[in-house]
Amino acid sequence: MQSGLPVLVLVGRPNVGKSTLFNRLTGTRDALVADYAGLTRDRQYGRGVFEDKAFIVVDTGGLMPESADPLAALAEEQAQMALEEADHIFFLTDAPAGRHSSDEAIASKLRKLGKPITLLVNKTEGRARGNDRGTMVADFYALGLGEPQPVSAEYGDGIVSVMRSVMGKFPANDATLPDIEGEVRVAIVGRPNVGKSTLVNRLIGEERVVAADKPGTTRDAIRVPFEYEGNAYTLIDTAGVRRRSRVEEVIEKFSIIKTLQAIENAHVVIVVVDAHADIGEQDARLMGLVAQRGRAMILAVNKWDGLDSGDREQAKYQVGLKMPFLDFTPVHYISARHGSGVGVVMRDVKVAYESTMKDLPTPELTRILERSVDRHAPPAVLGRRIKLRYAHQGGSNPPQIVIHGNQTDKLPTTYKRYLANEFRAHFELKGVPLVLTFKTGD
Ligand code: GDP
Ligand code: GDP
Repeated sequence: MQSGLPVLVLVGRPNVGKSTLFNRLTGTRDALVADYAGLTRDRQYGRGVFEDKAFIVVDTGGLMPESADPLAALAEEQAQMALEEADHIFFLTDAPAGRHSSDEAIASKLRKLGKPITLLVNKTEGRARGNDRGTMVADFYALGLGEPQPVSAEYGDGIVSVMRSVMGKFPANDATLPDIEGEVRVAIVGRPNVGKSTLVNRLIGEERVVAADKPGTTRDAIRVPFEYEGNAYTLIDTAGVRRRSRVEEVIEKFSIIKTLQAIENAHVVIVVVDAHADIGEQDARLMGLVAQRGRAMILAVNKWDGLDSGDREQAKYQVGLKMPFLDFTPVHYISARHGSGVGVVMRDVKVAYESTMKDLPTPELTRILERSVDRHAPPAVLGRRIKLRYAHQGGSNPPQIVIHGNQTDKLPTTYKRYLANEFRAHFELKGVPLVLTFKTGD
């Protein structure tokens, strides 16, 4: 069973329009107003939906030549992996600039991959349909990647038909794991070496990990059911977690795309960081990806054993500094090696699961809305008071509440946050973001 979202990867030299296309495909106005404070969207990894099919889109940036900068090298490694993990590649070129020598270099690299590629000739909006545009586009045939498709990332011309033909290849329904009543799906994510495998072994035992490690396609998300303190869970096994049960096993590279696939399939994500290492940008970025997808999240600061009190204080300070958006994410300091703290993490997983799947009945939602408005009315805009009438549940995982009223687009963020807090407190939603959507009906 294929159980990952299709992966679309954008490639091209700088300035051809990759990030513009990325924004168009992911939607600049994210439906998810996750109430993580100060959360910014990831500019390279996103999720989009086209005609009811979800996909992952990756902007590789400009495939840079070798760079001395280690961060650039890391980005380059992830860009290469993205190409390897791509289901479809969009190669962007720039019509007004014409065919460029770096286009040729990229094209020859891409041809070797043997992956499905669509050659996009961008910035063709407003060109006459006739000769002008035809000549512009024809020039790109020479790249040897099939028929160049004229598009405009900025204005949208041509994008729908290109997307329709690409997305047509992918099945509609089995991109993510089907829900099984009561199944608590947990993903364990984190940078290499933070202790993910050790935690998995502690939770399910080494033999089970080996048993689960059946070769399949890389895209199979493997479900590993296990019990912990009498509760049943299912581990969404990612390649990064599966290895290391045998010494001779090749260590698999850390893949952001595989991490995203696991996040997609999970109810609750345990993000593991290493208290011995600097808690840094990569950790924060992973947490940002979990938050962006609206998943319930628990932060496990691992390797708490063997730290003196000074180091512990320093690690706690780092967590507070680097992850300021963790308003409601439980943080636990654990030792996967010795097991301390692991039980508390798993109890929180259960609580977060219950929160993320909770039924929020309309009458109760509306009652809380009315009570909140009575206690603290929304402000008036140009002398007209913003009205909030009723609320209903829009979905689960993450919980979504749709609020109907008028002039709701004028509601200040502080007021939305106040409402979110009221709902959160009443329904005891823990460890999970709450998505509020507003609909104006007048
Ligand atoms: P990237 O470096 O490949 O990510 O390129 P960007 O998306 O940052 O775009 C580079 C420039 O091209 C920006 O100024 C964009 O506004 C512009 N651009 C992108 N797409 C189009 C398009 O379809 N038409 C026109 N005219 N300009 C575009
Ligand atoms: P992964 O790459 O995230 O799966 O990390 P591993 O589970 O393979 O662990 C990386 C290294 O950290 C190994 O040498 C582990 O023995 C060590 N490690 C894992 N958990 C702990 C812990 O709780 N305390 C200490 N001190 N070391 C740990």
